[in-house]
Amino acid sequence: MVSIELVQDFIESSKDKYIRLSDEIWQYAELGYTEQKSAAAHIAFLKSAGFTVREGVAGIPTAFVAEAGSGGPVIAILGEFDALSGLSQESLALRSCPSSEIDNGNGHGCGHHLLGTSAHLAAVAVKNALERSGVEGRVRFYGCPAEEGGWGKTYMARAGLFDDVSAAITWHPGVTNGIVNMESLAVKQAYFRFKGVAAHAGVSPHLGRSALDALELMNIGTNFLREHMIPDARVHYAITDAGGVAPNVVQPNAAALYMIRAPRNRDAHELYERVCNIARGAALMTDCELKIEVHSACSNLLRNNTLNELMHAKMKQFGAPSYDSAELQFAESMHRTTSAAEIEMAGRVLQAAWRQPKALFDGIDALDVHRPWHMHGSTDVGDVSWVTPTAQCMTACFAFGTSPHSWQWVSQGKSAIAHKGMVLAAKTMAATALELYTNPLLLAAARTELAEQLATEPYVCPIPEGVQPPVPKAVG
Ligand SMILES: [Zn+2]
Repeated sequence: MVSIELVQDFIESSKDKYIRLSDEIWQYAELGYTEQKSAAAHIAFLKSAGFTVREGVAGIPTAFVAEAGSGGPVIAILGEFDALSGLSQESLALRSCPSSEIDNGNGHGCGHHLLGTSAHLAAVAVKNALERSGVEGRVRFYGCPAEEGGWGKTYMARAGLFDDVSAAITWHPGVTNGIVNMESLAVKQAYFRFKGVAAHAGVSPHLGRSALDALELMNIGTNFLREHMIPDARVHYAITDAGGVAPNVVQPNAAALYMIRAPRNRDAHELYERVCNIARGAALMTDCELKIEVHSACSNLLRNNTLNELMHAKMKQFGAPSYDSAELQFAESMHRTTSAAEIEMAGRVLQAAWRQPKALFDGIDALDVHRPWHMHGSTDVGDVSWVTPTAQCMTACFAFGTSPHSWQWVSQGKSAIAHKGMVLAAKTMAATALELYTNPLLLAAARTELAEQLATEPYVCPIPEGVQPPVPKAVG
């Protein structure tokens, strides 16, 4: 066993440098698949820390894998760094206002600047501990782009990048400290593009075939489908091409991007096939052509109780951060910007009842592996969890009640509270990884647990071969 002090001391002595890196990435606020500055900043740090870096993996310019160590198990630590559009926000402000520091209109509304940097720091701490203790093993930091709807890790899983990994570890910034004992939905995303015939809508409508009619009929059909799908499934769509702005033209083109979610991969695939049939019916009704293009997909999350319990024990060893009065006051002010409904929603992630919620979660939540939270969103950590046993923790980086993808999360992204959460996550991840190099029985138990889950449904990457990552032309 490697001493926990080794992790504690290394992270405490090097954290300032990584806090600056996180703040720098907050400011870049780059969208999925365009995270060039953020990836470059991570890669420069990793190289200077002695990691060997493979860049541009899985056909994605901003995806990379950094490795250190030799022999032994391979432990992956997963990092993200993509931002969200339209969420530019002044740092530490108590109201919604665009940032003067960020000119691209984006913002780190999910805290992925913290996520990537903390995972990176954990990997460097593991490298240091392996070297200092002479334990055999390899640590990899995975630079995973486009978690927000681009599902970079799914493409990375399809490329086989996790195939030789013994276990994977990651985290997500949040409003509580604990384990992400959660189930998430599998997703399939596809464009449905209809092609008709343009005509004068008044003079010769009989010569036209309306792609917009086809798209509207498809959407209506899907809305009728809702009554006959499993309650935990979700279908959303965005009309990406309404066929122009001229009502006196029969619209020859129309398209929508559909997002189809369900509890497991096979459910999502079945539902996707039903939506495809509705689209085919709409094309038939309107005499239009239909093209279906898969955009991306990701798998539901498979929980690994063995790893989750290990990670929980490690987090408890470090304990929750303590806060000074200025930090508590800031959290209080931020907490006051939230509604009762938001506070109730934040509480759903908790495993143990928190009887008197405060502005800042200051304990370590309990873990009940038999009572997971059924989250109706999705994460591409799902695909990694089907390939190798995977654990995730969460730490309190934001005031309780503030929600992901909101101006409040962007505003708090460079706060001292966020930095403390990031440091606790790094320590927890590093200590969890180190235990796995020296406790082969535990690692074997985690792997057996996954093998049992896959016995009834083996992993099939939900993105078909041939579908390329949607990297913008300017980047690719
Ligand atoms: Zn996120």
